[in-house]
Amino acid sequence: MGSFCMLTRTRCVLRQVLLGPYTAMERTYSLDVSARLLRTEGFVDGRWISAASTFPVSDPATGEELAKVADCGPTEAKLAVDAAYKAFYIWKRYTAKERSALLRKWFDLMTLHKEDLAKLITFESGKPMRESLGEIGYSAAFVEWFSEEARRMYGDIVPSPAKDRKILLLKQPVGVASIITPWNFPSAMITRKVGAALAAGCTVVVKPAEDTPLSALALAELSAEAGIPAGVFNVVPCSREKTPSVGEVLCTDPLVQKVSFTGSTATGKILLKHAAGTVKRVSMELGGNAPFIVFDSADVDKAVAGAMNSKFRNSGQTCVCANRFLVQSGIYDRFTEKLGQAMDAELRLGHGSEPTTTQGPLINVNAAKKVMHQISDAVSQGAKVLRGGKRLEGSFMQPTLLADVTTDMLCTQEETFGPLVPVIRFNTEEEALAIANACHMGLAGYFFSQDISQIWRVAEALEVGMVGVNEGLLSTVESCFGGVKQSGLGSEGSKYGIKEYLDIKYMCFGGLTP
Ligand code: NAD
Repeated sequence: MGSFCMLTRTRCVLRQVLLGPYTAMERTYSLDVSARLLRTEGFVDGRWISAASTFPVSDPATGEELAKVADCGPTEAKLAVDAAYKAFYIWKRYTAKERSALLRKWFDLMTLHKEDLAKLITFESGKPMRESLGEIGYSAAFVEWFSEEARRMYGDIVPSPAKDRKILLLKQPVGVASIITPWNFPSAMITRKVGAALAAGCTVVVKPAEDTPLSALALAELSAEAGIPAGVFNVVPCSREKTPSVGEVLCTDPLVQKVSFTGSTATGKILLKHAAGTVKRVSMELGGNAPFIVFDSADVDKAVAGAMNSKFRNSGQTCVCANRFLVQSGIYDRFTEKLGQAMDAELRLGHGSEPTTTQGPLINVNAAKKVMHQISDAVSQGAKVLRGGKRLEGSFMQPTLLADVTTDMLCTQEETFGPLVPVIRFNTEEEALAIANACHMGLAGYFFSQDISQIWRVAEALEVGMVGVNEGLLSTVESCFGGVKQSGLGSEGSKYGIKEYLDIKYMCFGGLTP
């Protein structure tokens, strides 16, 4: 298993790699991974299937094409749903222990091939290799976690009010689940859902993001090698053009019982409408606009370290990354000065496969243009650029620090999804909470304080699903992940994640002789 007999080489020339904010050089990058993990067809009913056409997948750092991938349409999506439906009646009869053992094998294979899986993430999404390896660890950990949870789906025996009856509550898998995922965590956003679904006894059809299908297809290959039966895990990659029609099949077909989506709130609303027609169960992990509050009492160095972790992971392209920085007047100047110094010292732009790179490109040029638009809007309204402020080659963005930001500026009203730190000044805790909560989103929130009473007050008052207290990184498989307000419905990971794929059946045993 461990030795690769073939290497697939995709050569990418990065014309102007930005190693450090102001240097430019020319390099060539190759995606060297085992051929069997570089898959370009759809995976349906345990077989690789082609489609009438293909779509290109490119390295966002260079713009060079990495692969042409089967552009599955509604026909292939329907085939996948039918295969998953057929397989459901086999998979749900596996014992929990058997499902657990197969998920464990899948986890072992992901761990064995972590380097290749990480390279795929780096080349298709631009993520620095160190972070891609981190994502594979995180992604595999969901499969491991749910392999363990599979055996703990206990039901209940409930005390009955009648002497001649017994009340049993059984947990049963909901059926076929459609899984639609984004590009920013091309592997982990799949396993966070699929691990729970398969553990529960559901079967799945995955539609990965058009920018990053290669990670999903490599997962399919490893699932088959692990012995997960045909039809249990299906993948239908497709282009941006085919996405709406494929999404419609996956969210309206009556054989599908569950839709689990991670992505933008705008897309989530479309899928909710689709799912309503046949009353499907839904889980929605949607956009964020996280406040990051630094109170006067904070340890400024810890707050700066937290800000660096929260903001610059994946170049600011995470749903939980800090979006609005609120800093109290007494610590404002020290915080912005030290954060600027940390950005100078720690951030290095470049191709994700360079060991020195901490900041890859944004996923595409439109993403970089969106960040630039927010910067121009803020500057036109009086914000001061302390660091960066410019778009570089392709979709590379300079990490940017803005001071004197107000809540009238776009960058505080919408999710940025890029390396921009807009810093608002506030005077009182009430003011900070009012600004933080004046938002339709409620995914993550962070604050730094050393005042224990304030910690309890603020943690309880923030209208978000996840709070980091003196901590900028909070995702872990053991805890639940999910938002409130328009950031979503339901929870993933933790002991709660599997519940999203289970129905509770009430069994009433009557006519018993007491
Ligand atoms: P997106 O909504 O554009 O795309 C997400 C997925 O939905 C992709 O697979 C895309 O192809 C698909 N999609 C788009 N339109 C569709 C349609 N009409 N029918 C069916 N599928 C459709 O989001 P994105 O830009 O890829 O991802 C970024 C967004 O995801 C951000 O808002 C981010 O906050 C959010 N996100 C949330 C979480 C979370 O756990 N809450 C995690 C990661 C990303």
